[in-house]
Amino acid sequence: MKILVAVKRVVDFNVKVRVKSDGTGIDIGNVKMSMNPFDEIAVEAAVSLKEAGIASEVIAVSCGPAQAQEILRTALAIGADRAILVESQEELQPLAVAKLLHALVKQEAPTLIIVGKQAIDDDSNQTGQMLAALGNMPQATFASTLAITGNEAIVTREVDGGLETIAISLPAVVTTDLRLNTPRYVTLPNIMKAKKKPLELSSPALLGVDVAPRLNTLRVSEPASRTAGIKVPDVATLVARLKNDAKVI
Ligand code: AMP
Repeated sequence: MKILVAVKRVVDFNVKVRVKSDGTGIDIGNVKMSMNPFDEIAVEAAVSLKEAGIASEVIAVSCGPAQAQEILRTALAIGADRAILVESQEELQPLAVAKLLHALVKQEAPTLIIVGKQAIDDDSNQTGQMLAALGNMPQATFASTLAITGNEAIVTREVDGGLETIAISLPAVVTTDLRLNTPRYVTLPNIMKAKKKPLELSSPALLGVDVAPRLNTLRVSEPASRTAGIKVPDVATLVARLKNDAKVI
């Protein structure tokens, strides 16, 4: 069983991002970039299935600039067997990425595709769902457990009301939630080994995908800063303020 895992290069979760002064986006010049945390979980899940003898090959895919090779090398160091970079300098929106992944799914015919539930830069939470729709495949989003039995994936999903367990037939798309696993630390010997693993270059043109943006960002701005809170002496004052000033009760 082949597993395809999607990994995105995003601004590191520790970085406090700044909005560009002209309001056209986020300033990512000179900031630390890393693998999207949900995608580390996705790679860990795929590699664990390989170590358990359930998967035979794990392929990591990233769509983005040449620098995304770094996170593909990380995926290889975690334990992926080979990597594909779909190189593009364009802004790739979720639909474009889903189409690129769909083209690779047709090429590689994986039994399972694991992606993160969301990329922490744009927080779209769309790519896995769009990929499943394009490929007419079942999907199990927000997975907190994943088991493969025969031709099915048994997935516990984190939903608003608690947990839901579903069985979906393979091939399918699974998106990872935080509780699925704790990604391993990448060891130096594995980083060295990863340098020798195959990393193939592709492009939207080679895959025949039009990646032109379908959404136009009008303006990006900082959230309004919060005004200072106040202390009230007792509950009666609190209730009065909520009623008369805040008008929320
Ligand atoms: P999003 O829909 O943008 O929140 O992203 C959800 C997931 O789709 C991410 O966690 C990744 O697994 C995958 N993904 C999104 N963009 C890319 C990309 N440029 N390259 C590879 N995978 C991506």
